[in-house]
Amino acid sequence: MRAMNFNAGPAALPLSALERAARELLDVESTGMSIMEHSHRGKTYEAIHNQAIALVRELLGVPDSYDVLLLQGGASQQFAMVPMNLLEAGKSADYVLTGAWSQKAYKEGKVLGKVRVAGSTEVDKKFTRIPKPSELELDADAAYAHVTSNNTIFGTQFQSFPDTGKVPLVADMSSDIMWKPIDVAKFGLIYAGAQKNLGPSGVTLVIIDKALTAAGRKDIPVIFQYRTHAENNSLYNTPPTFGVYLLRNVLDAVKQAGGLAGMEKHNREKAALLYSAIDARPDFYRCPVDKDSRSTMNVVFTLPTEALEAEFLAEASRRKMVGLKGHRSVGGIRASIYNACSKEWVQGLVDLMTEFQKGR
Ligand SMILES: *Cc1c(COP(=O)(O)O)cnc(C)c1O
Repeated sequence: MRAMNFNAGPAALPLSALERAARELLDVESTGMSIMEHSHRGKTYEAIHNQAIALVRELLGVPDSYDVLLLQGGASQQFAMVPMNLLEAGKSADYVLTGAWSQKAYKEGKVLGKVRVAGSTEVDKKFTRIPKPSELELDADAAYAHVTSNNTIFGTQFQSFPDTGKVPLVADMSSDIMWKPIDVAKFGLIYAGAQKNLGPSGVTLVIIDKALTAAGRKDIPVIFQYRTHAENNSLYNTPPTFGVYLLRNVLDAVKQAGGLAGMEKHNREKAALLYSAIDARPDFYRCPVDKDSRSTMNVVFTLPTEALEAEFLAEASRRKMVGLKGHRSVGGIRASIYNACSKEWVQGLVDLMTEFQKGR
């Protein structure tokens, strides 16, 4: 029996994508070899690589004026690559701080150039909401403005994105990319580590306006320039071939499940189910996040005491539910309900919540 996997990342993957990998592990497309044993310059791998990129373009409706790159180093490497490429001398970049990941991105920007905090919702080291557009002080001359679309640790999510005018909007979408359709043209650059909503760790997706690729700095190492990867179809050096293969399988599964419109419906239903269960017993379960900032991907809540939380987690584990412990920096419970988390798993969690609270 599969575990009910609520891991924050690496996280659950669609079963069909894994089954396909299992079937093909020793022999992909009747070549008598695993995909991992193929050259990244060969026809078999290249076709899979191009399918993965084409599926990203198709599912997200990426305009032709954007490059789709498959890189390595995780979202954390993008914290550095974004300012390395886009923060020109004499310019400053804006960062909206909504959690630990945006703070890390800001810190890397600071190493490389001038950065400003355009808004922050931090109170006592906690972030329980997304700032309102009126709270942001955006610099109309900034090299770019950076946001984290979904805050994996604190369970908050932008419901709409700030209008940055001519300033390119850069978004870390690691934990909610492809949760629903978006208008890519509103962004200058989108990046996401694959291990939450797209595939295994080791692959990082970057979608970048070709004008930004071209304008990127050239006085940095070649390997860190977006243009290097754009000019070489993300085959400048050896890509993480098995990761890209699995990404292709996952995106194919998403397409079969109705694409991003299908994902949005599925994700909204799950989130509604879970938040209703929390709100139905406000004296027992409490979500610390403002209602208008709640995430559809990471649902955080607390119980009246830490002892009860420990008991709750023990009972969850007996029911084969994993990954429900809140991040070590905030505690409580966190259910990560990404695309590959089924409605049945969420129902299982809701049933546990109902039964656990009875008589207490
Ligand atoms: C997980 C996560 C990261 C870190 O990703 P790595 O691939 O481990 O570098 C960055 N940003 C967000 C929003 C995340 O959820």
